[in-house]
Amino acid sequence: MKETGKGPAILRINNEKRVIAALRQQQLTSRQDLSRQLKLSKNTVSLIVDDFIAAGLVEERAPFSSSMAGRRKIGIALRPERRLSAGIMVERQHVHVRVCDAFSRVLEERTWQTSTENPQQLLAELAEHCQRLIRDHPALIGIALGFPGIIDPQRGWMHHSSHLGWQGTDLLSSLQPHVCVPLLIMNNVKAAALLSVQQMKCDPNGSSFYLRIGEGVGGALVKEGEIYTGSSWTAGEVGHLIVDPNGPRCSCGRKGCLETMISLPAVQQQFAQKAPHLRWENRTRAPAIMDALMTRAGNRLGHALGQIMLLLNPGDIMIDGPWNDHQGFIAAVRDSATQSALDFTVQRTRLHFMAQRIDPANGLALAVLEQHERIDPLLPGA
Ligand SMILES: [Zn+2]
Repeated sequence: MKETGKGPAILRINNEKRVIAALRQQQLTSRQDLSRQLKLSKNTVSLIVDDFIAAGLVEERAPFSSSMAGRRKIGIALRPERRLSAGIMVERQHVHVRVCDAFSRVLEERTWQTSTENPQQLLAELAEHCQRLIRDHPALIGIALGFPGIIDPQRGWMHHSSHLGWQGTDLLSSLQPHVCVPLLIMNNVKAAALLSVQQMKCDPNGSSFYLRIGEGVGGALVKEGEIYTGSSWTAGEVGHLIVDPNGPRCSCGRKGCLETMISLPAVQQQFAQKAPHLRWENRTRAPAIMDALMTRAGNRLGHALGQIMLLLNPGDIMIDGPWNDHQGFIAAVRDSATQSALDFTVQRTRLHFMAQRIDPANGLALAVLEQHERIDPLLPGA
């Protein structure tokens, strides 16, 4: 290609992004391994890596061999402290912030209570906090802000949030003029889904579904590293799959949504109905009640998962929720999913009950890094 015009510049930027992404994902590699993995010439990789070393973004490490018989190669690694990102998760009446390095390790964390009734008042508070983060962390390359509700991440626009009571709010245009690093606006659960794929080491070219149980129930399909939002940003809203048409009334106005059966408040209410003062926290006082409620919750979830498997056919499904340490719940989810989908599909779907809960603020911070690494589609397959 002739070294004129915009093409080569974009090609170079895209190659840099691919090298950064590979360095972040592998943590320790070599110029030779990068060249082979990214199908780039050794010369191209070396030029990029040398520039990164000069800029202090990458460092050389002791030689290593990646196989028993392999030649020893000079290690290269990203300096994670030189590429920071932050996630700000907004929920009803509180804000939770994490600043992370390029390997998703937490450098700073804070949570505070605040009023979330008035969008403009909260956005002014968030803009101020973004400015403080940038002052305290000069290596910050961007900040992602997560909200509950229906969000258009392209426009940075919130259509609706029943948790916050907000409607039609322009989040990005209100915040970006006050903040000198790029901002991302996302739904909290969808950001958590990105991190779940990384943590569970799912096939980056495959598809995975993340399902989160908390105050509500939400989910997201991640396909080839990208969140699938759907045509009106509600893809993955599994909390509102109806699993019992005669079930309790949901915040959405309908009856028997999955959320009204298995969310944290729903299960707490089920415990309280069985015996006064009985809660999840003191469940061992009534093991028979606990087992019955957990089996029922597992059945409901498994039924919904069967539908997700047939409709989206993800290779992995990650369940992130408070009930994962109850074996009866896990068994009921598996049984019910098996009964609700084709054997062929179930046998090829891996169900993961996550032992550690994902912090969506970490997922938001990861979304910033992945956004930076996204290659310019003007040159596909560059
Ligand atoms: Zn609902």
